[in-house]
Amino acid sequence: MMAEPATPDSVLTPEELQTWHRSIAEANRHNVFCHCRQCHSEWVASSPKPCLACEGQDIEFILCWQFPDG
Ligand SMILES: [Zn+2]
Repeated sequence: MMAEPATPDSVLTPEELQTWHRSIAEANRHNVFCHCRQCHSEWVASSPKPCLACEGQDIEFILCWQFPDG
């Protein structure tokens, strides 16, 4: 299970909430930002994988929705 950010459920209807959860799951599937700590390659993948450049396993995975705005 992936940890999810705090849900603003006080302002969303159950249907909106469901859509919100879906879009986050969708974003997670398609936008995993990967950073190799060995060779410092950076790429975006649909799922966490070893480094394509050096095949290193020491990868930092950052889900794109975790990037702060601005
Ligand atoms: Zn690498």
